[in-house]
Amino acid sequence: ATDFGIQEALKQLGVSATNKGTSTGSEWFASGSEFSSTSPVDGELIAKVSATTKEDYERVITKASSAFKEWRVMPAPLRGEIVRQFGEELRRLKEPLGKLVSYEMGKSYQEGLGEVQEMIDICDFAVGLSRQLHGLTMHSERPGHRMYEQYHPLGIVGVISAFNFPVAVWAWNTALAWVCGDVCVWKPSEKTPLCGVACQNIIAKVLKDNNLPEGISNLINGDYQVGEFMTTDKRVPLISATGSTRMGKIVAATVGQRLGKSLLELGGNNAIIVTPDADIKMTVIGAVFGAVGTAGQRCTSTRRLIIHESIYDKVKNAVVDAYKQLRIGNPLDENNHVGPLIDKDAVKGYESALTRVIEEGGKIVVEGGVLSGEGYESGCYVKPAIAEAENSFEIVQHETFAPVLYLLKYSGDVENAIDVQNGVAQGLSSAIMTNNLREAERFLSHTGSDCGIANVNIGTSGAEIGGAFGGEKDTGGGRESGSDAWKVYMRRQTNTINYTTELPLAQGIKFDL
Ligand code: NAD
Repeated sequence: ATDFGIQEALKQLGVSATNKGTSTGSEWFASGSEFSSTSPVDGELIAKVSATTKEDYERVITKASSAFKEWRVMPAPLRGEIVRQFGEELRRLKEPLGKLVSYEMGKSYQEGLGEVQEMIDICDFAVGLSRQLHGLTMHSERPGHRMYEQYHPLGIVGVISAFNFPVAVWAWNTALAWVCGDVCVWKPSEKTPLCGVACQNIIAKVLKDNNLPEGISNLINGDYQVGEFMTTDKRVPLISATGSTRMGKIVAATVGQRLGKSLLELGGNNAIIVTPDADIKMTVIGAVFGAVGTAGQRCTSTRRLIIHESIYDKVKNAVVDAYKQLRIGNPLDENNHVGPLIDKDAVKGYESALTRVIEEGGKIVVEGGVLSGEGYESGCYVKPAIAEAENSFEIVQHETFAPVLYLLKYSGDVENAIDVQNGVAQGLSSAIMTNNLREAERFLSHTGSDCGIANVNIGTSGAEIGGAFGGEKDTGGGRESGSDAWKVYMRRQTNTINYTTELPLAQGIKFDL
């Protein structure tokens, strides 16, 4: 099989055949059992990583706690300079890292590069932010007093990430957390541990070149039990967790039990509303990329198309025609549009969704199926499928992490389509395709989409780092990345200073001694 430069990329990233899975920076240790990372692209073993034990974890937390004491006193713009250098290293290693993302996770090489670009972008954003961690000043009701608020570093930030964005989600969190003065402990998905090893090598070099201590960037590896070391640990004041709603409910309860903070980025069930005023060509591009890009494994993937009855057949036929052009195969080959699902469990989930939609009364309009034969040896390649369905179907209400698109019909006004769009438990991304200003504004208003992301004339999939990213309801309510998302990584303090010789009490309370 063609190697597509994978071995060379692994070498450049410092990933070996067997890797220690726990790191505090330049120091690596291994005492847990090894687990394998297998590529969904060709089913081959890529490399092994040792899982983090409780003892390893304690070593990490000890290092992180003492590093925090040094890191937090470094002026924020100097921490920004470290993040700037990290961004430079990412620019230098963009191609090998993008390749590893593609090979270990299965998304296209272009999307792998795009993910690394997101890391670079958030570094740039964080560098600017490091001079803008602003608080407000306010007028005191007491004479001769001044009041203001400031933001202080929180401490150790635990990052738990999902397989589908194996590097970007870590950077979204850490680039901000670092300029805010926090240190981080990252547990990548057990399905993409090598991306974790590679990223840790990249940042470790920067920290070492700047003579910074161990413990600012830490890596732990393993399954949910390793994640639980952090979620149950009072020494980790913030847990940022990205993954399924099922996981988020457990993490929120565990962290809540000890009154820690959690930032949750969970599942979506994203829809595009297509109104009679939609540009059909744009709709088709947005919907098809949204549904089949990353083989339907983005949290923002388009799962539902809500189409007005007057244009339903036209849109359906155009989308079905577009699906005929799709090339499925090795994601490192830039001629292909659709790569594999992450593993065989995901394939089972995809197959059961297709069975289920038929059982519930849906109609398949683009046939699915698992591909076999040459090039498909991993057993993870599936055909993107489309079914006509009802929003009330149990399977439509559920996020299937695979390329299955449901067509839903609406009649009457855009309000009806908005009801359908909002009529699911999740609230991540949403879009409307229309040239009608009234419809667009209604969709964006407080009576419109209930999602964290609402777009006009672009699809649901993907986002820029400049805005706050996240969603409502079962998506967990967290916001990451741009805008003022940094505030969650800091603790807010209100300060009142009296510069008189009197001690008046607030609310005019009299207390004479
Ligand atoms: P997952 O929930 O299976 O795992 C995510 C991470 O959580 C993994 O690192 C896993 O080990 C860890 N984990 C699981 N249970 C845990 C527990 N009880 N305690 C601590 N850690 C635990 O998700 P996945 O299959 O890797 O990813 C797909 C899901 O992620 C989809 O639902 C997708 O929509 C969602 N996602 C959301 C966003 C977002 O920003 N909203 C982004 C990417 C992915």
